[in-house]
Amino acid sequence: MNEPQAARILDGTVVAQEVEAEVAAASARLPFRLGLAVVCVGNDPASEIYVRSKAKKARELGIDGIERIFPDTLSEAELLDVVASLNEDDAVDGILVQLPLPRRIDAQKVIDAIDPRKDVDGFHPINVGLLHLGRRALVPCTPAGVMRLIAATGEAIEGKHAVIIGRSNIVGKPMAALLLNASATVTICHSRTRDLAAVAREADILVAAIGQPLFVTDDFVKPGAIVIDVGMNRVEAGFAPRLAHDAGKSQLLAKNGSVLVGDVDFARVRERAAWITPVPRGVGPMTIAMLMHNTVEAAMRRRG
Ligand code: NDP
Repeated sequence: MNEPQAARILDGTVVAQEVEAEVAAASARLPFRLGLAVVCVGNDPASEIYVRSKAKKARELGIDGIERIFPDTLSEAELLDVVASLNEDDAVDGILVQLPLPRRIDAQKVIDAIDPRKDVDGFHPINVGLLHLGRRALVPCTPAGVMRLIAATGEAIEGKHAVIIGRSNIVGKPMAALLLNASATVTICHSRTRDLAAVAREADILVAAIGQPLFVTDDFVKPGAIVIDVGMNRVEAGFAPRLAHDAGKSQLLAKNGSVLVGDVDFARVRERAAWITPVPRGVGPMTIAMLMHNTVEAAMRRRG
């Protein structure tokens, strides 16, 4: 009897490079410079790193990456003024406000103030509505990136059963809309779902976007499924026993004192799935690549 084959790895860095090459080619072809403004408020070092890396990636691809980094003292009214001036600026094709914002600022109010034609995060209610209507929209970057990863398997989505674990506005819900628009049969699970493992085992395509390290074990996975792990969780020494079966991660944890893991127990699930994304180098690189893609898309539509 043949031994079961381990899953094929869906390498997000490779697919992201393809998207980035498309973006670079488009930006070289267009008769105008593309502009992406990334706005950050507060002293969160992680947010500042994200914003700078997004602007840097934009510049690498021939897009003017404009960083606007403000101190924690910036008021909501001042931030709304910043957004209004970026809306007015014809050289700016895309506006991204890095979340989370300081708690005293109403993030939804800020998102609602972004010109929907420049809303490269796809969080504005107009874009959310268009996506759910199955119309052309600027689509949130992470689920859009997952669609590209699924496309890279070469397997058709139509008619497959997709199960998404997580119902957030930035991942789970838009992911469900995209898969439904691609004619999958879609089930969305969340913290109140009963017998989650049994529901997940029905999936031909399983997307985990939960924020719980190694939550999805082999018991959740139908043999031959495509498994996409959106989760990014940094775990520390106390987690070592739960990683004992994964030599690679265990070594990294012992060496660095912490390690990044997904929502999927990669070492176990890869023995059952047909395709699987690793963490890191899976969904993560796709998010930033799709942001650049959305900037091109926004520019082409707004500027005709
Ligand atoms: P949220 O915290 O907003 O949502 C988590 C979702 O998971 C909720 O719908 C929640 O259910 C559900 N959930 C939590 N615990 C359980 C459980 N035990 N059983 C079933 N469902 C559960 O997270 P996000 O959607 O923002 O992010 C999810 C993960 O993806 C995080 O690890 C995040 O870091 C990562 N991420 C990665 C990105 C990337 O670029 N790779 C981009 C964005 C996010 P309920 O609604 O009932 O509470």
